Amino acid sequence: MRRFPFLGDTITRRLVVTVALAAGVTLLLLQLFFAFGGTWAKPDVQATGLVQQVATVIRLVDAATPAERARLATAANTDTIHYGWYDAGSAVAGVLERGQYLEPQVAQSRAFLEPFLARKPDRIVVFQEDNPVSRAPGLPYDRIRNPDAYFVGVRLADGSWILGIALQRFWGFSPFERLMLQVVTLALWVIAVSLIASRQLSRPIEHLAESVRQFGHQPPSASIEEVGPREIKLVARTINGMQAEIQRFIEYRTTMLAAISHDLRTPLTRIRLRGEYIDDKWQQANLFRDVDEMQAMIDGALSFFRDDAASEAATVFDLPGLLQTIAYDYSDQGHRVDYHGPNKTCYVGRLYVLKRVFTNLVENSIKYGKVPTIDLEQQDDGSLIVFVRDRGPGIPPEVLPRVFDPYFRVDKSRNRQTGGVGLGLTSAQAIVRSHGGDIVMENREGGGLEVRVLLPAMIQTGRNISGPAHIGHMWGKPAR
Ligand code: ADP
Repeated sequence: MRRFPFLGDTITRRLVVTVALAAGVTLLLLQLFFAFGGTWAKPDVQATGLVQQVATVIRLVDAATPAERARLATAANTDTIHYGWYDAGSAVAGVLERGQYLEPQVAQSRAFLEPFLARKPDRIVVFQEDNPVSRAPGLPYDRIRNPDAYFVGVRLADGSWILGIALQRFWGFSPFERLMLQVVTLALWVIAVSLIASRQLSRPIEHLAESVRQFGHQPPSASIEEVGPREIKLVARTINGMQAEIQRFIEYRTTMLAAISHDLRTPLTRIRLRGEYIDDKWQQANLFRDVDEMQAMIDGALSFFRDDAASEAATVFDLPGLLQTIAYDYSDQGHRVDYHGPNKTCYVGRLYVLKRVFTNLVENSIKYGKVPTIDLEQQDDGSLIVFVRDRGPGIPPEVLPRVFDPYFRVDKSRNRQTGGVGLGLTSAQAIVRSHGGDIVMENREGGGLEVRVLLPAMIQTGRNISGPAHIGHMWGKPAR
């Protein structure tokens, strides 16, 4: 296979096939051009030798005695051109003298003929079958059989006329017109072939890029489809291998961290037991508080790792419905939460993890602020923004960038009462980023915090769910 890259479905083969096809079709078109092309495929009048032929007959007739001219002209007849000579006083000469002719045609014929004539004729006329002059009686051609005859008349020095009648107009475009026609046809063809060729090559690459982009919205075990030419399949296979490797690595780290967190519980329990023997009650209370805090941190970490390990497939769900449910649930518990926004908007994502994100944000607002509101806005590009706003203390601007860091809490003493360990926002940000979106926080004018959750438009394709790739993410891992 490797020695004959064009045998399998490879980029080389696609390229070779496209170029070969292009060359083949070009040749075929050229053949068709000459076989079926009308006037335009034929050589132009100068290339046919017609002009020289007519000029030679004119010179011969001009040189002959008047008595011989008529016979000589008739003798010069060929299958394609007939000649006639008409005395100065003849009816045909009179008609030719009085006829109306198209000046540009006359000038062009003069330019063609003159170089081949011994003497510049003082009058040259040209006309076609549609000119009344062509109906002069006695002209040597059959109007019915030769409907597109072309006439050239030259007046000789003695006032007599010699008329050449090309029975068919069988010459084509001028060299310039022919060149333009070829250039335009070729350009159109080249554009068409290039489009086909680039499509052939770009489609598998676009498909690969799309599959890689969809990675983030699939369960960790998902792999990208290995389709397209061999080289692209190889890239897909390599990415799949790399993805599996990264996944294994993450799993190993997560399991290890979960095990460490878990194992820390035992010595912590022992510390707590030993604390019972401390006589100094104040020191004992301090120790117990620290132990409780560590316990909470460990529990938080364990639940974070547990969530991370659980893989949930994306589904279509009604986002306003989800937000309203959260609002009702809190209202039921005596915390008023208002929802503003559309009543129904479908979104494709992981329902349960997203529910946890919004619950966490609303819970924070209730904990740190008062009467939170949830607003949902749909943007023109299909993306959705969920605003969770409150009128609480907000977050000091200098620590705002750090609120998503694990275990970060703005005010430790304040948080002690609220019970959080500082993993809620870390986890929320990781989940939203895994949907291709992001979370932004801002202090509101007049006090309080505004949290914006941007969820980009998701496209549900046959088997995959996709979203924009502008925000990097890794399976719900905290992104620093
Ligand atoms: P926690 O579990 O402590 O709530 P989070 O990660 O959810 O942890 O939040 C991190 C910190 O950000 C909180 O400790 C709190 O200080 C601050 N914070 C979060 N939401 C709000 C809010 N709505 N108003 C004021 N401060 C907030």
